[in-house]
Amino acid sequence: MEEVEIHAEKTARKEKKGLIRGMPVSPGVAEGHAHYLGESIGFDQIEYDEAEDIVSEISRLKAAFARSQEEIITLAKHVKDMSGQDEAIMDVQVMSLQDRSFKNKIIAHIKEGSCAEYALKKAVLKYVEFFSNMEDSYLRERGSDIEDIGKRVLRNLLGYEGQETRQFTRKTVVIASDISPIDLIGLRQDNLKGIVLSRGGKTSHAVILAKSFEIPMVIGVRDMLDIVKENDFLIVDGTSGLVFSKPPQVIIDEYVRLKAEKAHKLQRLDALRDLEAKTKDGYEIKLGANIGLLSDLELVKKYGADHIGLYRTEFPFLARKEFPSEEEQFLLYKKIVEGAEGISVTIRTLDVGGDKFLSYLDYPREQNPYLGWRSIRVSLELDDIFRTQIRAILKASAFGHIKILFPMITLVSEVKRIISFLDEEKSSLKKRGVPFDATLNIGIMIEVPGAVKILDRLLHYINFVSVGTNDLIQYTLAVDRNNQKVASLYDPLHPAVISTILDVVSICKKNNKEVSICGEAASNPYCAYLFTAIETDKLSMNPASIPVIKDLIRKTRLTDAKKALNRVLLMEDSSEITSYLGKLLPNSKFKLISES
Ligand code: PEP
Ligand code: MG
Repeated sequence: MEEVEIHAEKTARKEKKGLIRGMPVSPGVAEGHAHYLGESIGFDQIEYDEAEDIVSEISRLKAAFARSQEEIITLAKHVKDMSGQDEAIMDVQVMSLQDRSFKNKIIAHIKEGSCAEYALKKAVLKYVEFFSNMEDSYLRERGSDIEDIGKRVLRNLLGYEGQETRQFTRKTVVIASDISPIDLIGLRQDNLKGIVLSRGGKTSHAVILAKSFEIPMVIGVRDMLDIVKENDFLIVDGTSGLVFSKPPQVIIDEYVRLKAEKAHKLQRLDALRDLEAKTKDGYEIKLGANIGLLSDLELVKKYGADHIGLYRTEFPFLARKEFPSEEEQFLLYKKIVEGAEGISVTIRTLDVGGDKFLSYLDYPREQNPYLGWRSIRVSLELDDIFRTQIRAILKASAFGHIKILFPMITLVSEVKRIISFLDEEKSSLKKRGVPFDATLNIGIMIEVPGAVKILDRLLHYINFVSVGTNDLIQYTLAVDRNNQKVASLYDPLHPAVISTILDVVSICKKNNKEVSICGEAASNPYCAYLFTAIETDKLSMNPASIPVIKDLIRKTRLTDAKKALNRVLLMEDSSEITSYLGKLLPNSKFKLISES
């Protein structure tokens, strides 16, 4: 922990109030006023009330419809700007608002004497009941669309501001129990300075987005309600996990100093932008960026990524109400690859399930979604959707350097099927004269320990491997990556994790296959030091971490790192490893997420 943070924590402890500790997940310091994201108002709170003036109730309703439509359009534009997806995302909601029969039903209830809120409730609940009896999951989902839109109109009738389209007029720290990736996209704005959650997971996709937005975030904060009130001034330290409510001047001063120090450090790191990530004795690791949104391309340039090691395609899918068409996907991937300006882009096919659910996909009820129908298993079953995505990626490959990556592989037969789909789609494009890159490299993600055991066989069919540490850790250690209760067991420096990753890299090297490590552990300096020792070819991480890791690699001697790795491999647990690496890398001054 950095000196200034220790000092700040000690001072706050002396004050014995206003200090909360959580788990740091997105680094940096935020200052702003607390704003609780309220649970949205529900229809169960609406009771019958008589309309005093029918004409004015109808005009209230119409005004609420108009405001709701404006909100949706703003939100859709926001999502479009960042994800590159078209406005289809909110089409269903806009259509519901424009649907005359929906509005007329509510007006009819008002004419019968109900106030606008109750009339709305009656109409919405009728629709919800109607759709909930449908066999088809797509139609059942339409019921929840109507309910969502109904709640939005209700909020506007009651004069509540829309949460996701809210414009903060001053620096704000959002506080919530949890937040979905799509809500976070909607809330993103200059005045959103920090996020504090009482729940959340270290490698949840909201956290991954917060990092790419460079918004400090602390999760797993308990007793928040007792300490933080709406509008309280907060300092959120996403590097140490400390949250200060109404901090005394001495803490504020400490953070002013810390900010100046950090700015200085960043300036120094900025000078590394165009240098190689090469150890003192000449071993070079290519440092790539993980991205999920079109807007992340700015960060790729800002932090000087060598390549895009992971483009998670599911974010744009999550932001929609139905599967994007082949053309929509093609245009998006083309924009990404053109925006990458010559560096390679590894596009990962859809990786849903686990904690990423598409509202328009019918999921089975599962006891353990992470061990169930997720990722490549979904794609291989919904092969029309999978082939559509493959075609879109192939077509985009004519416009830049694309590599295709398949997630969560556990079987050779999965790879064989994927290759046969790829071959079929390639020959059909060829027949139609549609250009694509015939030399496109094919990669698989190694995220399951079982796949490591058959890696030599999997490698026959592919060109490269990408290690997804976020999942590999949860499957190696049997720890749900999003479960706060067992978060302390989720440990990238567990000896089993390190030796599993070592196995993957060694097998790839032996078979002359390129290997990259792309989970969040790649940006953990202690892990990155060990991954250097292992001689991985590439690391890929949230773009803002690239300069820090580059600096570390450039200060490292590979021969020393190898000696350290050999000692680490004999150690019993991660606390021994952490304290050893802490002594070895005293000047790195990094606060490790695993330390919290
Ligand atoms: C991983 O599992 O490490 C990974 C990069 O994939 P995701 O975080 O999207 O599951
Ligand atoms: Mg994964």
